[in-house]
Amino acid sequence: MREGPVIACLDLEGVLVPEIWIGVAERSGVDDLRLTTRDIPDYDELMTRRLQILDEHGLGMPDVQAVIATLEPLPGAAAFLDWLRERLQVVILSDTFYPFAKPLMKQLGWPTIFCHSLDVDANGRITAYRLRQPDQKRKAVQAFHGLEFRTIAAGDSYNDTTMLAEADAGILFCPPDNVVREFPQFPVTNDYDALRAEFERAMATLG
Ligand SMILES: [Mg+2]
Repeated sequence: MREGPVIACLDLEGVLVPEIWIGVAERSGVDDLRLTTRDIPDYDELMTRRLQILDEHGLGMPDVQAVIATLEPLPGAAAFLDWLRERLQVVILSDTFYPFAKPLMKQLGWPTIFCHSLDVDANGRITAYRLRQPDQKRKAVQAFHGLEFRTIAAGDSYNDTTMLAEADAGILFCPPDNVVREFPQFPVTNDYDALRAEFERAMATLG
């Protein structure tokens, strides 16, 4: 049995904040930005298309950040995060990008987040995206294990499942039905009280 202090690994979108691209689409009125991996399964193609759409509408980084600054964490998210940070060190593992996350991290009291980067030119145009590494959520959990930490992870969707499987305990939060069906091994929570209870249960089990 693995030993060591426990770190909490949290997904961001769908767990602490709303889906960022959906929010940008709604607040900017650019409906094409609602495209998700359900419409374009290839992530590279999807991101390339999103950057192209931003360009077509003359939206640069300052515009997108201004839109994101009007988004708010999910109701109860800040209190949940404070509760968790009193008990465990927390690292947010997200597939968003640092400049996009920043206005939301400010509202959450600047928690630690590992995500991806964007290239921005002198005019604020977003020219490229850079994934720090593929499958970074799972690799972060592996790396924490290498540093003799244990991990409890929580996320809402497919891109979290390798992280949840790698962690010492994995928890689903407000997942879609297909994820619940395909991953029956993870407990399902649908509000922050239930998520608190699952974290407490996992902490007690890990000892
Ligand atoms: Mg998510």
